[in-house]
Amino acid sequence: MDGLGTSARQAAAPDPRGQGAARPVFGAKQAALQLGFRAGLLRLMQLARRREAVILTFHRFAGEGTGDPCGLAIAKFSAYMKYLVRCRRVVSLPELTRQLRQGKVRPYAAAVTVDDGYEEFFSLAVPVLRTYGIPASVFVISDFVDGRLWPWTDRFRFVFEHAPRGPVVFEHRGSARILRIRDEEDRWRVEESWREYAKTIPVAERDDLLGAIADACGVDIPATPPREYRPMTWAQLRALAAEGFDVGAHTRTHPVLSRIPPERLQDEIGGCKEQLERNLGASVAHFAYPNGRRQDYTPQAVEAVARAGYVAAVTTVAGPNTSAADLAHFAQSVSGFELLRTRLRSGLQRRLRRSGDEPAPAVPGSSDGEARDG
Ligand SMILES: [Zn+2]
Repeated sequence: MDGLGTSARQAAAPDPRGQGAARPVFGAKQAALQLGFRAGLLRLMQLARRREAVILTFHRFAGEGTGDPCGLAIAKFSAYMKYLVRCRRVVSLPELTRQLRQGKVRPYAAAVTVDDGYEEFFSLAVPVLRTYGIPASVFVISDFVDGRLWPWTDRFRFVFEHAPRGPVVFEHRGSARILRIRDEEDRWRVEESWREYAKTIPVAERDDLLGAIADACGVDIPATPPREYRPMTWAQLRALAAEGFDVGAHTRTHPVLSRIPPERLQDEIGGCKEQLERNLGASVAHFAYPNGRRQDYTPQAVEAVARAGYVAAVTTVAGPNTSAADLAHFAQSVSGFELLRTRLRSGLQRRLRRSGDEPAPAVPGSSDGEARDG
């Protein structure tokens, strides 16, 4: 895949997307987002070039006593969407795919995506999207919706939410490690640091790590997600699809695809598509890579996406735009989305660096890329 080689030379940068949270974590992703919106969506949009499509990605929302208390306040999301429809030509991802494949992206195109499939997308975000006529895409972890899984990132967060303050000793890779949570801000910094580390190790080892930390902290991880972590139901997703929202795939269990054995790729990628299509009664055309940075998926994963029959997939790899020829090359598999969506981010980061506003990443060494997922 030559096109992939093209994007591999790109420099990664934090992305301006939706976790504008009150949570005292300032990972590069979140901080960049907050800064992006603090600087104003206006400024963000001005940075996008006329011919470049912008794809905004959101995860969790908070409001009306529901959703994720640390998620993006729904009133803020509403303000962003109001602004977006005024300043950009908001299209669905399928429409953007079509334009890309034809090499004719219309000026000021923008699409909205929301990852993972949490319940508050349906109860909080969809009414806002309806108000502004935004045909968003939602990328769903299919085993999560199916009630078979509580995503590991949430289990991680749950354990750290309930971990005691003070030093806790546990064993990892044959040696003793110490968890030191001194105060509440520290709690999330420590959580983020271990979560980011967990993304770099094999999935089985990651689960052992989480188990060891939970045991040492005396935290019982519930078998099913507590209320604030619950997914949408299949009925809700069917209703959304019937209404014209685009439902896309985000693997069955949300692993970092570069950290699972290659023989599991088909099940995670193709299996997710089948599961969604079976339950929705409609075809699923788009895929989003969990975490989505270049190091989070492999050429084999890209092949599995193409083999499964997806029209396009989105990543969070940052970098410059490309020629129509490259887009055509991508169109059958990874697509040009990663290139289009991230030009904006790169531009934003460069300008912030120049202005001295850029936030420092909270985790040492974590500035080499941005993740789709928290
Ligand atoms: Zn995700």
